[in-house]
Amino acid sequence: MNEYTSQFPIFLSHPDLVYLDGAASTQTPQIVLDAMNEYYTQYRSNIHRGLYDLSSTATEKYEEARGKIAKFIGAEKNEIIFTSGTTHGLNFLASSLGKNLKKGDNIVLTQLEHHANLVPWQMIAKEKGVELRFIELSVIASEENQSPDQITLGIASSPSASRNDSEYVVNIESAKKLIDENTKIVSFALVSNALGTITPAKEIIELAKNVGATTVVDGAQAIAHIGVDVKVLDCDFFVFSGHKMYGPTGIGVVYGKKEKLATLEPYFYGGDMIREVTYENSTWADIPERFEGGTPNIAGAIGLAAAVDFIESIGWEKIVEHEKKLTQLLLDQLCHPEERSDEGSYRGVKIIGPSNLEKRVGVISFILEGVHPHDVAEILNRDHIAVRVGHHCCMPLMKLLGLSGTVRISIGVYTTEQDIEKFIEGVKKVKNIFL
Ligand code: PMP
Repeated sequence: MNEYTSQFPIFLSHPDLVYLDGAASTQTPQIVLDAMNEYYTQYRSNIHRGLYDLSSTATEKYEEARGKIAKFIGAEKNEIIFTSGTTHGLNFLASSLGKNLKKGDNIVLTQLEHHANLVPWQMIAKEKGVELRFIELSVIASEENQSPDQITLGIASSPSASRNDSEYVVNIESAKKLIDENTKIVSFALVSNALGTITPAKEIIELAKNVGATTVVDGAQAIAHIGVDVKVLDCDFFVFSGHKMYGPTGIGVVYGKKEKLATLEPYFYGGDMIREVTYENSTWADIPERFEGGTPNIAGAIGLAAAVDFIESIGWEKIVEHEKKLTQLLLDQLCHPEERSDEGSYRGVKIIGPSNLEKRVGVISFILEGVHPHDVAEILNRDHIAVRVGHHCCMPLMKLLGLSGTVRISIGVYTTEQDIEKFIEGVKKVKNIFL
């Protein structure tokens, strides 16, 4: 236990749990549970429509939540749209932004996108007959290796030819080649859920701005690990989910620059998003209500604001320091020199991602050569160690890397040194069984 772990009731219910799957969904602190419980027990009612006290309180708290979340990412209150999560947000943007696309245009993504930031664009590209382009990844051999060769995936030799512990980074040279005057949308993950890499977002956004393209940033994996200021990033849209930042499930956010939101068509039509309706026609409410048709996840928004309070009560400096320390410990232990084989590589372990902590967060993918990732997870689970295995909703990336999947560990504020030690012991058990 550390000072943060004790704030998460799940660890009281499961004292042996080593939870290393926050990239899929983080655990929930008491403060978030209390905020939602307060809504359900003290002022539960629908928002915006009721002329009675409970509804006014619910509306106030919901709008207060919007303001808090806006401040958290450096936005203005009416630039925040509540959604059910990142997938909803990206579908909304692909559908709404896609309406203006025409033949000859192109959309630029990267090779490491989660399916949620790939499939919606594929669908719109097919519908509109526009081209999809993918910024390539470079495999830069880490300092440990003898020859610092750089292989661009998709151009040079097979990725399986890359060495152990290579760094997989989005290649800016490739972005320069692909983003041109016909590019209308550039969308990418700020942090890769499969590799933990941080995308050089400022440079890509700058390239997009130079050609007048709209930028969409998938912040699902960044939001709990690095402080984000959308005005500093200068992206047009930023999308994230509450459940990956200690908040509830079923709530997420689309940030959009005021002037960009004003150009968008609504995604859902119905109650709460209209100004006036006749049997023949409708006009739209102001932004943000225009994009929040139907009863929203009121408790979720209130819970998400409490998650912001939780993160701010610790502060980014401490969060980043804590996660970096544990990431370094994990990388060091996983690739301990005693574990080296005669060829100089680590016995069986291959990290799929950067070792440089400036280029990554504490989402670490690895493979144990010769051992199926599912077997690794299965054996770790016997010791109550929860990790994620598989393609991580990045099938094209896995194919590109020549992998069927990886084992992924993610570190959060509640992760402790003991967790890492138990995990390393677990990996040793797996090795003893299989290698
Ligand atoms: N993008 C990234 C980078 C993700 O990691 C995830 C969740 N794994 C998503 C999008 C989709 O998020 P959600 O399931 O909350 O909609």
